[in-house]
Parts: sequence; C-alpha cells; structure tokens
Amino acid sequence: MTQETAPILAVEDLTRKFVKNGTVVEVLKGLNLTIRRGDSLAVVGLSGAGKSTLLNILGALDQPTTGRVLFKGADIFQWNERRRAIFRNRNIGFVFQSHHLLPEFTSLENAMMPALIQRMSPRRAGEKAADLLTALDLGDRLTHKPGELSGGEQQRVAIARALIMDPEILLADEPTGNLDTETGGKIQEILLELNGNRKITLVIVTHNEKLAERMTRSVGIKDGLLYELR
Ligand code: ADP
Repeated sequence: MTQETAPILAVEDLTRKFVKNGTVVEVLKGLNLTIRRGDSLAVVGLSGAGKSTLLNILGALDQPTTGRVLFKGADIFQWNERRRAIFRNRNIGFVFQSHHLLPEFTSLENAMMPALIQRMSPRRAGEKAADLLTALDLGDRLTHKPGELSGGEQQRVAIARALIMDPEILLADEPTGNLDTETGGKIQEILLELNGNRKITLVIVTHNEKLAERMTRSVGIKDGLLYELR
C-alpha cells in the first residue's frame, strides 16, 4: 500500500497490559481498527474499558504491549523516540477532559507553545495563535491566564493549542466531560466543524451519546475488544 492509499491510522492486534498492585491487568486484548482520512470516530464504553488507553497509544503518548499502530502505513513504534515526538507534535492534536493549560502563561502563550517547541518563529507562532483564538471567539481573551477564564474558554484555548501545528488528526478524550451542557454543546460544535470544514480526522472518546450520534462512526470497547456500533 502506498502512503496515499494507506489509512491515516490503523491498529493491528493491539494489546496493552498494566501491572497494578502486583497483578497484570490486560486492558486491551487484540484490537483492530482502521481510520480513514476525514473520518469522525466516537469511542464509547464503560469507565475503565480502556478508551483512554487506546487514545493515548494512537497518539504515541503510551506504547502497546504487542501489536502495531500504523500512521499512513508506517509503524510508529518502530520509530525512535525523537521521530515519535515529531509525529506527536506535527500530526496529532490532543484535547483532554481537563485542559492541561499552563497556569502562569496567557491564552496566547499557551496556544503558541507547541509551535515554539518546534522552533516556529515567535512572531509567526503568535500570529497563528491569535488567529486561532479569534476564530474560537477568544479574540478578547488573548492576554488572560487560565485562572481568569471560564471552563469553556479554557477548553477553547486547549483546542487552539491542539490546532497550532495544523494536525491531520485530532484526538479528544472526554472533551465536554467537565463542562455544563450548553458549554459542552459549543465545544462539540467546534470539534464537528473542524472535521467538516478542515477535514481534520477526529477521534473522540465520549460518554455523550448526542455527540457520538453526530460522528460518522462509533466503536465500543468491551472486555478488551473493539466492536463496531455504527
Ligand atoms: P477508560 O478510558 O475506558 O475509562 P482507561 O483506559 O483509562 O479506561 O483505563 C483502563 C484500565 O487500565 C483501568 O482499569 C485503569 O486503571 C488501567 N490503567 C490505565 N492506565 C494505567 C497505568 N498507567 N497503570 C496501571 N493501570 C492503568
């Protein structure tokens, strides 16, 4: 398969074991999943089923015990850590349930951070971050620090930070989990729009059934295995 025709992400026979209090827990027991460019995929399942574990492995924040994760056909766990760090930085955007913003930095600085790490010029990074924050309705919050923002605003800063490197894939772990229904609804619209307009491939772990229904596909995790819901 060439790079062009390969799925953007594929998981093959993925297992992940953890050692917890001296016992081995097999959380993922042989998952297979193919994600095509432009898909929007909801991952559902009970708490503890392994959804975050899968998402973290897809984004190379964690490693499989066995099995492969292919990005456009290339096995990301065959790469060295430096190459994988570049993959995380350039190809993947992460949005978590809690925003993980740095409290001592402003919205603008938080959103710029991944670009500065990649040595984009501060001027260019600043312009890009300001554009993204403005598009997310935060144009008048650029110099606010996270503690001065509402939960929904903080999550929008986190989305700007996830988008600063123009990732092809956005991975979101319960992105509306800490928000009230109305604010969560707005974040949901933003994520769906990114998929619709920018064609960003979206993988969202969510308990929110309404959100899952609006995505092109849903999969569930149960007993360490994945099943197609829709
Ligand atoms: P979900 O996202 O579906 O709620 P998780 O992927 O967070 O589930 O966790 C699945 C299981 O794996 C849980 O039992 C959790 O305690 C365990 N687990 C996750 N990460 C670790 C870790 N780093 N060390 C030990 N156990 C872990």
